[in-house]
Parts: sequence; structure tokens; C-alpha cells
Amino acid sequence: MSVARVVSYAIAVGFWLATAVYAILSSQAFIVEQFLKPGLLPPVAFFSSHFELICPVALAAWAVPRAEAIRRRELPSVVTGVLWGGAASIALVLPALSTLEPGPAALGVAAMAFVAMLTLGWAEWTGRRDCEWTMPEQRPGADLVAVLVAALGANAIETGASLVTSADSISFADWGLGLRYDLLLGMVVFLVITLIRGLANMQRRPAAFETALSIGVIAAVWIWLIHDVVLASISWRGPDSWMISLLGGSAIAWTACARAVARRDSPSDGVATAVCGLAPRFAARPAGAVTWLLLLAGLAYALHRVSLIADWNFVVARLGVVLVWMGLLAGSLRAVRVAARVPLGFCFGASLIVLIAHSAVERVSADATPRTHAARWVGEILAPGSSGPAELFPLLLEHTNIGASVNVKAVDLQWAELETPPAGVRPNVFVIVVDSLRRDYLSAYNPEVDFTPSLDAFARESLVFKRAFTQYGATGLSVPSIWVGGPVLHKQYVTPFAPMNTLAKLLDHEQYVQWISMDNILDVILPASSRRPVLDQRVQVKDFRLCQTLSEMSSRLATRGANDPPVFAYTLPQDIHISVITREGGRPVDEGNYQGFHAPTASRVRRFDTCFGEFVADLERRGLYDESLIVVTSDHGDSLGEGGRMGHAYTLYPEIVRVPLIVHLPLAMRDRWTWDLDRPAYTTDVTPTLYRLLGHQLSASAPFFGESLVRPAGESAPMARDRMVAASYGSVYGAIVDSGRRLYVADAIQLREMAFDLGDGPMPGTPISPDPATRSQASKVIRDTVEGLAKLHGFSPSK
Ligand SMILES: [Zn+2]
Repeated sequence: MSVARVVSYAIAVGFWLATAVYAILSSQAFIVEQFLKPGLLPPVAFFSSHFELICPVALAAWAVPRAEAIRRRELPSVVTGVLWGGAASIALVLPALSTLEPGPAALGVAAMAFVAMLTLGWAEWTGRRDCEWTMPEQRPGADLVAVLVAALGANAIETGASLVTSADSISFADWGLGLRYDLLLGMVVFLVITLIRGLANMQRRPAAFETALSIGVIAAVWIWLIHDVVLASISWRGPDSWMISLLGGSAIAWTACARAVARRDSPSDGVATAVCGLAPRFAARPAGAVTWLLLLAGLAYALHRVSLIADWNFVVARLGVVLVWMGLLAGSLRAVRVAARVPLGFCFGASLIVLIAHSAVERVSADATPRTHAARWVGEILAPGSSGPAELFPLLLEHTNIGASVNVKAVDLQWAELETPPAGVRPNVFVIVVDSLRRDYLSAYNPEVDFTPSLDAFARESLVFKRAFTQYGATGLSVPSIWVGGPVLHKQYVTPFAPMNTLAKLLDHEQYVQWISMDNILDVILPASSRRPVLDQRVQVKDFRLCQTLSEMSSRLATRGANDPPVFAYTLPQDIHISVITREGGRPVDEGNYQGFHAPTASRVRRFDTCFGEFVADLERRGLYDESLIVVTSDHGDSLGEGGRMGHAYTLYPEIVRVPLIVHLPLAMRDRWTWDLDRPAYTTDVTPTLYRLLGHQLSASAPFFGESLVRPAGESAPMARDRMVAASYGSVYGAIVDSGRRLYVADAIQLREMAFDLGDGPMPGTPISPDPATRSQASKVIRDTVEGLAKLHGFSPSK
């Protein structure tokens, strides 16, 4: 097999795999709204918008080295070529792939791409090449040595990659735990191989049976990975997800193994034959084995780096562990030829020793928790278990990422009647929601911060809500919940959304001129209005920067007349969004010393802090500062390395749900209102607060809605309510309980629970073990809110 043929096969498989991945991404409403439409994934955007060009190019790359087979009319090659040619022609007349929307079309494209992979494998299989090598007679001995080599190799590679990429050190005990897990996994693999060989020995053609069964097992591993790791992490369950997993797992295993499958009547080793496509031929030679080891180490290192910058529920990291393991196993099954004299009894004896040693150590160090990602994940593979409120998980799964095709009622929500004429005194309102800003990156919340002098000065003249939270761990639902003033149905989005947008109703009623940085979410949730000269008109969402937006506001303020209606301004600057920082090279933007902080973020916070200071100075110069209501908050926080986590989206951790919430009241309002800065405050309270300040009595549309952050002076505060929080793109829910002092999390993706003490200091929080009282209290809040929202919208998962 020539190198050209191998490369062209890889291009063909890669092309269809990329097509399938794109279609899977487009089948999820939240991914389309939050990642594809705003162009947050540039290579994906390039692929989808040039699909009709890439498709024939990839076809040509595949077909040229196979011209001979096609000329000979070999059926699989002809079928593959014709189908592919058909797809390429259809792609020319259909709308671009980038317009794919959630629904049957997206599922169809994904399924078609996997079928194309299956035919590629078929064509490769009939052009099968010889992939035999001499195996020792005593296979169990060779198998055992091979899995042990793979286990030790995997452990060395993953530990090395963790050491190089992570700031955390790895102790001897951490390493030992990982080694134990890898050895145990090795034993499981050994058992499976032995079983395959045993079953094959009962057949008439053992090698062929062994090969087929081994490919089946590899396919089963991929089906499970796609279903339980990839699709589960976007909370995609049900028959559709099984169909995609079955097709995808079979296609991946088949394209990887088919190339190498030897003649069906070959007397060779079937297991080794099946996996020989997973490791190159040179891995069988001593020098080649070292090269292969180094290549896999490089792969592990690269995937660790990628996972640290941006990963989705550790999907990249977890798939990486499996890939490295498979590559090592295939390589060592090829390379190990020395164990001919190891008797079968010794193999089982050795396995038994590993098991006994493991359970002995496990007993002494029962609550050892794995620190490296690989150890954590291998531990999960070996002992998949769940903790937490098992009865709550199905409810959460059913009520999360409700499909775009599911029709639910748009409800007319109201905080107040809005029948009176607009308020006499209406301050200008500026709402600045800095995407992903953590509270502990502002000196108002953390004395260690010395890079936010302007926001610090602003905070000293404002209300700084110490225990402030977002109800959603990512933009997709956090922003709508701010406009509604309460939690929203887990759907992107209920349409028309306007009846639920209580803030928009207030702004129209009070005749505010609305300066809004429109983005793909606001396009959906805001009703059309003639009162809206938009901000950042020709700027792409990912390029929204606070400095630029504030200077646009300042120049607009300069041209306003004395009798113009009041202004409401809203913007969601992307300065420190993880995708922006990654795109900008992941480096700080200045030379400052940000020890103890994530420098790329901190330096950008310093940059917009300066602009914010200039904006406040400008308001003061115009005599507007003391008459303006200014809110500085964020839509959620961000994980910046805690426990190896980066970013936000599908998780709930203290650093994600805690946000800054700083409210500057106009001077004239301060005497008439009172507030409690220690009381839990939520971004969903901003809208009810604006209603209250503009003179409206509140009546919430549902008991779980927000509340005003201020009340008339002299009035006492009602009891603080526990509230639900949730991830925007996954079935991970939580509750803030104990007057904002604890976060409880029920993770229906990983089927586990977590709890955190949020403390009184600047740090986000520390993990604690969830106690039954907290669990039942939090579960009730979560259940009541999820069911309440479903009831409000007439949504029932069974429909
Ligand atoms: Zn966001």
C-alpha cells in the first residue's frame, strides 16, 4: 500500500467525519445559536461555507490513487465513487451546508456522512492488503505482556502530559492511583481478548471470526463513547442519539480496521489483524516502537493543551485517553513477540495479583481521589456509578435543551399593569453585562486585585451586592433570563419571545430610547422597535469590545438635546470571552504582573477598566453621572484552571455562578430606597428592580421569578428565597441555598452531585460533601422551578 493511498484514504475519512460532526453540531439548537451563528468556531465555519468546493476536492484525492480499481469496475469502489459524486453534485444546487438547521435534515446529513464512511471502508476492505505477522504460539502470554506494556505506556504518557501541561504537581500517591487504574483496565482488556480468542477457537474459521468479533468490540467501544461521552455531554439522549451513535461508532471502527483486514481464509491472528490498522507497520520494529510511543506522547500532549484551552465536558481529554490507549495496545500487540514461553497459568496468576493488590490498596486509601484527568476518567470507565438524587436526573434530562421543533406556548408575562403614563423622572440607564467576568477579578470583591482602579472607584459610589449570582452558567439562557427577570424554559428559544420580555415592555412603556448592541440572541428575544438606534451596528458579535461601545455611547451623548427622551443602553462586551482570548493567541495584552490570576483575562480586564473610567468621567463632565442608573454585571463567570477546568457552558461551579453585581443609583433615588448588600442577589433581579425604581408595584408571574434589589426606605426585607441555577447547554442544575452560602449541584450528565461552601471571602468556593438536608432542600427548589416553568409554558416531555 503506497503512502499516497494511505494519505488519500485519511483525507476521505476525515472529510466525511468532519461532515458528520458538523451536522451533529447543527442538529442542536443551542450550538447553532451560540457557536455557529456568532462564528465562534472559525475552522468549522470555513468547512461548512466551502463545503461544495471541499467535497469534490476530497473526492478527487480519494479517487485518483484508486483509478485502477474503478476502471476494473470493482463494485465497492464504483458504488463509493458514484454515491460521493452524487453528493458532490447535490451539494452544488442545495443551499450551503452552513444553513443547516436543527431538525431531520441535520440528522439525515450526519447519517449520510457515516454511511459514506462505511462504504469507504467497504472499498478499502475489498482491496484488502496483507496485514499478517508471525505471532508466538502461546498467545495468552503475548497478549498479557502486550496489555501490560500498553497499560504502563498509557500511564507514563498521561502522567507525563499532565506534568508538562498542568500547574498542579502530581504526588507519588496520585501517580500510584493512576497506575493501579491503568493496570486494572489492562486486565479487563486482557480478559476481553482471551474471551474473543476462546470463542473463536470453537469456530471453523477462527481467524476470520476473531477479526470480525474484535472489530465488533472496537465498534461497541466507539458507540459507547459517542453516546455516553460525546452526545451525553450536550444532553442529547433518546432514539436519535442511539441511531447516530450506532452509525458513527460502526463507521469509525470500520474505517479504522477495514484497511487492514487480511484475507478471510488467512490462518493469521484475528485480534492482531483487526487492530493492525490502529498502529503503523513500523511499530513492530524496536526503533519503530519507540517512534510510535513518541508519536502517541505527542498526541496526548497536544490533546491536553487543547483540553486546557477549550474543551466541552472534557470530551477532547477523554477521547484522547482512549485514543492513546488503543494506539498503544495495537502497537504493543504488533511489537510483542517475546512471550512464547509464558504459561497460561502464569497469566491468570499475574492478573489475580494485580486485582488483589488493587483491592488491598483500595481498602487502605478508600477515599483517594484521582488528580490527573486520565486517572479520573479510567476510574470512571472501571466503576461507572452515580451519586445524588437519582430520581431527579430523568426529570432534568427531559426538560433540558428542548428541541427546536417542539412547540411550546409563548406566555404573556408581566411584572406590572403598565397602564399609568411614563414615570415623571426617568434616569438614563446603562446596563453593562461583561461576558464571562468573574467577581474575584474586580477589586470591589477581591482586595488582591490591583488592576481595576476605575471600577473600584465606581463601586465605592455604588451598591456592591456581595452574594450575586447568575441563574444560568452560560450566555444562551443567562441573557434571556435577565430580560425576563426570572428563569426561562430550557429551550433556545421559545418563539415568539417578545411576550416574555418584560424588560423590553418596560422600556417601550417608559418611552426609552434604546441603544443596544444587538446580537444573535437579542435578535430573537427583542420585539422590533422603532426606538432603537443600535450600538455596534456593523460589528460582529465576537468583536464587541467595551472600549469601542462606550466611546460610541459617549459620542452619542454629546449630540443629545435637553428634551430628548431618556436613554437605556445595553451591551454584552466579549473582551474576555474564552473564545476571544483563544483566538487572540491566549496571551496577556500588556506586560503587567498578574500573579495569582489568569493573566490573559486580567490584562484585558485592566484594559476595559481604563475605558470604563473614561466613560464615567465623560458622564460627570456632562452632569449625567449623578442622574444615571448604571449596572455593571456579567452573564456568568468562567473556570480559569480550577481543577483543570476552562471556560463555561455545560457546568456549574462556584466560579461560574458567582458574578459581580454593582448598581449605581441616581443621587435622587438613594434616600427613598433601601437595600441589603449581604442578601443573595441575582442578575434576574435587575429587571424587577428597574420596574420598582420607575414606580411600579410588582407582582411576579411565578413564585420562582426574580425580586427587586431595592425596597422603599423603612420597609423590611422578606426572607431570602433559595433559587435554582442551571447550565445553559447541558442538564446540569443546582440551587443556591442557605442565604447564598452554599451551592448544590445535581449533574444529570455525569450522574453525580456536588456541593460547595461559598464562604465569605473573595474566593469562589470550596467543595464540601453534600449532606442529606442540603440535597433535599436543593432538589425541591430545582424540581419546583423546572416543573413550574414547564407548566407555565404548557410543556410536557411526553408530548
Ligand atoms: Zn457569556
